[in-house]
Amino acid sequence: MAKIIQGKQIARDLCEKVANEASTFRREHDLAPGLAVVLVGDNPASEVYVRQKVIECDKAGIHSEKYRLPHVTLEAELLGLIARLNRDPKVHGILVQLPLPDHIDPSKVLDAIAPDKDVDGFHPVNVGRLSTGSDGLTPCTPLGCMMLIDTVIDELRGKHAVVIGKSNIVGKPVALLLLERECTVTVTHIATLGLPDIVRRADIVVVAAGAPRLVRGDWIKPGAVVIDVGITRKDGPGGKALLVGDCAANEMDHAGAVTPVPGGVGPMTIACLLSNTLKAARRSVHG
Ligand code: NAD
Repeated sequence: MAKIIQGKQIARDLCEKVANEASTFRREHDLAPGLAVVLVGDNPASEVYVRQKVIECDKAGIHSEKYRLPHVTLEAELLGLIARLNRDPKVHGILVQLPLPDHIDPSKVLDAIAPDKDVDGFHPVNVGRLSTGSDGLTPCTPLGCMMLIDTVIDELRGKHAVVIGKSNIVGKPVALLLLERECTVTVTHIATLGLPDIVRRADIVVVAAGAPRLVRGDWIKPGAVVIDVGITRKDGPGGKALLVGDCAANEMDHAGAVTPVPGGVGPMTIACLLSNTLKAARRSVHG
């Protein structure tokens, strides 16, 4: 039977560690680490994510400010708010919840966040730091994936990792993090030919495609570690929403370890956001 990587518990432990360290930071600097979360429009899923982030901040003793702007907000107004938050000494991290309404250019907005407050790690400066292996703010979900992998593999060096998906928020950064740890990394995507055979050679599979049951049991090498980032909402029995991952979860018995969906990578994302906010706060005082 594959080991189930208990993302929920690992995330809880990380949140607790951040809470302890945030309390030391508050004592030493008479200032709480602070996160500003900006939500534009009324996307119901975004509202749920933002609410969860604010709740977890409160629990960890991280000061949070929520900015809820209407759908009709102009790009210039949003950029004005970001400029203000960039200057605010109580705010160490700024997160703009995506997606933004169509009339706002997300890259313009993300590029306007001060790189040292960019707790999502999406700013080109942080992307550059990640790709050159220097210390920056790393995107939360990929960081969470690495922490989960580290709970089941002692030495990543020399392992063959296959990443499915090449998005800027998951696939590419996770591939860079694996490369930094000296894995041999193959990045695959929708146009990749012969995906099953590529995955069959992997010691580590990270799948972030948003394609339910894409990865089948017979693609997985015995003992391989499978990190399922995918989350797709489906209608379950009685009209209840069901979250499904990108792996055929019932076919993974011979894997070494797998993350469940839900309760695997998802909880790590918020825990890593708290951790990044604390890191940004420390850097703001220590340089
Ligand atoms: P995206 O749509 O930006 O990118 C998906 C990538 O997967 C693309 O590169 C595409 O080429 C590839 N892909 C799609 N279908 C494929 C297929 N059939 N075969 C091979 N490659 C395929 O998505 P994203 O933002 O990277 O998110 C991916 C998934 O991860 C989604 O389900 C999303 O909800 C989930 N996600 C979860 C978390 C979390 O906290 N757990 C965070 C971010 C994203």
